[in-house]
Amino acid sequence: MRIGVLGAGQLGRMLALAGYPLAKTFVFYDMSGSPSAGLGEVIIDREGKYLDDFLSRVDRVTYEFEHLPVDVAEKLAKEKPVHPCPRALQVCQNREAEKTLFGELGIPTPQWKIADSAESLKAAAKSLGCPVVAKSNTEGYDGKGQAVLKSPEDAEAAWESIGHPRLMVEKFVEFSREVSIIAVRGEDGQLAFYPISENVHHEGILRYAIAPAPKLEKHVQEDAERYIKALLNELGYVGVLTLELFETAHGLVANEMAPRVHNSGHWTIEGAMTSQFENHIRAVSGHPLGSVECRGLSCMINIIGEHGNVERLLELPYAHVHLYNKGERAGRKLGHVNVLADSYEELVWRVRNCVQFLPGSPEFSSSLHSNRIA
Ligand code: AMP
Repeated sequence: MRIGVLGAGQLGRMLALAGYPLAKTFVFYDMSGSPSAGLGEVIIDREGKYLDDFLSRVDRVTYEFEHLPVDVAEKLAKEKPVHPCPRALQVCQNREAEKTLFGELGIPTPQWKIADSAESLKAAAKSLGCPVVAKSNTEGYDGKGQAVLKSPEDAEAAWESIGHPRLMVEKFVEFSREVSIIAVRGEDGQLAFYPISENVHHEGILRYAIAPAPKLEKHVQEDAERYIKALLNELGYVGVLTLELFETAHGLVANEMAPRVHNSGHWTIEGAMTSQFENHIRAVSGHPLGSVECRGLSCMINIIGEHGNVERLLELPYAHVHLYNKGERAGRKLGHVNVLADSYEELVWRVRNCVQFLPGSPEFSSSLHSNRIA
């Protein structure tokens, strides 16, 4: 079976790595002009002229990034199966649509309002109560196009700095940690849920994901599964879906979803019986899903900006190094290291040993080092 992937970055690369053992072949369609996936034919098409050519070479279509014009996905879906469905893309590209859907499905969100001027931003900040986070309603990701307002008086400056005509304004959530759940739905509706991971960010970029999240309570996992299941079924979704959440003293609060395999799930490559990538390929191809059982406790360390001392990392018997074949640049995701252990103590020790060879990494800190999670 030939799988067409819209996008040609590291997620596409890891999808292909998981798909080849199942005898899939891959064609990547790249609109950015800087493909890095390798591992398959790449069609570079900045102007959208070769979509028909792409379609003629594939049996099924999926994507590795969500900032793809919905009309392109819809056009493709008329010709070949496209998983996940274009509606999932549409929802993710618009924070208002996303939060509205969450609300309809009973998924808790921060209180929110829409602002379309500096005045309405000020009014929203007043009525929600500061601090609030203002985010561009569309075209925003990884914390870009955002501002925190400590007082309604900050509205004018925040409006100018974001420079977007429509903003999502959210009450600031006092979270104990950021987590995500990754789930997969097959073509026949079969569901599988990975354990929640704890995600540690630094300067707006994911640095570490620990799974299962330390001190994870059963009811928290169950709540997350209920929320993501509601989304998967409502959207008639096929493939891997990620839901990013805040854990608070009053339970989980949803931040956003990503209609694809996710950086916080890279630990599943060695850490689960079936990786998120293989399960996505299985789902998109119409196969049964694989087991999501964990092989132990995992931590994924992102390699950001510079590669560090890869040779030394490769000497560590417990470090699984994954490189994306990309050049060094500040803030760029170049690879990751997966570490497995039988206890969290051992995991911390092993992660620290890896991090000494990754000079760009912030010191490893998580709820394992604090009493944030009771
Ligand atoms: P986003 O682009 O929506 O994923 O936001 C990027 C980051 O900003 C998140 O990972 C959080 O660390 C932070 N953030 C976003 N929304 C909120 C909120 N309502 N309350 C507190 N922190 C937030």
